[in-house]
Amino acid sequence: MSLGTFHEISGAKPGETVRRWLPVNEDYFGFPQKVPYIHIRGVEKGTKGVIFAAVHGDELNGTRMIFELAEILDPQKLRGELLLLPITNVPAFFFQSRYLPDRRDLNRLFPGDDEGSEGSRLASRLWHSFLEGADFGLDLHSASYNRWNFPHIRGNMRSERVRFIARAFSAPIIIHSQGVAGSLRREATKRNIPVILFEAGQANRFEGDVGQIGLMGILRVLKRLEMIDNGTIPDEPDRVTYFKRSSWLRAQKGGLFLPQAQPGDRVKAGEILGEIRSVLGEKLCDIVVEREGRILGFNLHPQVIPGRALYHLCYDEAEL
Ligand SMILES: [Zn+2]
Repeated sequence: MSLGTFHEISGAKPGETVRRWLPVNEDYFGFPQKVPYIHIRGVEKGTKGVIFAAVHGDELNGTRMIFELAEILDPQKLRGELLLLPITNVPAFFFQSRYLPDRRDLNRLFPGDDEGSEGSRLASRLWHSFLEGADFGLDLHSASYNRWNFPHIRGNMRSERVRFIARAFSAPIIIHSQGVAGSLRREATKRNIPVILFEAGQANRFEGDVGQIGLMGILRVLKRLEMIDNGTIPDEPDRVTYFKRSSWLRAQKGGLFLPQAQPGDRVKAGEILGEIRSVLGEKLCDIVVEREGRILGFNLHPQVIPGRALYHLCYDEAEL
């Protein structure tokens, strides 16, 4: 399953791991702005993969997964090669922000434009230097500010190659979601490079437990693609399911949100997931789920107004 070569980067020799920086733009001082990457190149030729973390600059759980992955993988034993980007969105990371300094979302700008906005130029550089020529990609995210996500995979499950990788990863929950226009997973999959997104935990934190789930998923993908042999990594389960739909349950009242259910929980139609109270402590309403499903993530901040997203739910489970 080899499509081409990685472009424009100074990479490792066979059997080597290197840590390097790729200039992508300039900062306010006119100094080069650089993206760090780790290139692990096996002795044997084979599949080429790329793993992005912190495409949103404050979502750091994936960064730590990459650190651990780079320590585990022995380039002498790897088949094929891997490019790991621990901090993809360097300008946003610098400001401890999800967004680029011009308030744009890098994950709406792929495949980018060399003559476009600052984010569009960054997207184009990342695309051509790291993604083009890859056989598959993983995009590691955490929930946005004040939310927490149960570890799950998002991807276009209508693509057989995406399903293959998602099945191998076998995160606790898998959902069909092709992503919005300009997102890395949507644009790459459209151009025949299967990319799945792994969501876990919250922004601005290193969370060891969800990180381990992600790391195990990544290793299972590498094993399934025959890039590594490791008997200690369990295979994916025989039966893997996914959810066809997902949507947010939103607040209908202004007040304070008291959750009673947790991400990962299975829920039934009519179940009460929490309540909203007034600032004087009176109960205003229950939060009731209308359909059977599972909770993907929830809002951590008590203060809510009508329309505020409370619980992210997925529905319609099917065999993957
Ligand atoms: Zn994100």
